[in-house]
Amino acid sequence: MAEVKYFTCVSCPMGCMLEVRLNAAGEVEDVSGHTCNRGIEYAKQEAVNPERNISAVVWVEGVLEPLSVKTARPIPKAKIFDVMEEIRDLSLKAPIQAGQTLIENAANTGVAIVATKTLG
Ligand code: SF4
Repeated sequence: MAEVKYFTCVSCPMGCMLEVRLNAAGEVEDVSGHTCNRGIEYAKQEAVNPERNISAVVWVEGVLEPLSVKTARPIPKAKIFDVMEEIRDLSLKAPIQAGQTLIENAANTGVAIVATKTLG
């Protein structure tokens, strides 16, 4: 059965309302409501394999201030829980440099978890 999904494009501040028509196989057949081609790409991604950036805070041994970390690029939404578990299980020691890779391939997504600030 065909399906229609609606999204707000977050690729720029205009926030176009996108309508995506999927066929019975779950493939994108048509996108409307976009003002530019970035909206088409966003709608296709969001409808079939949505992705999100993740940020979190973790503790570093012997440091009172928490360390903020984030994904180096968006990960599949379905992998968020697994990635958060790996972040939670991190065991870190100072010093940590801003931009330092803390996990190379978080939950087999091919995406790294990096520190967003220098600590220690
Ligand atoms: S479709 Fe284009 S203009 Fe509209 S919100 Fe997305 S990026 Fe911006």
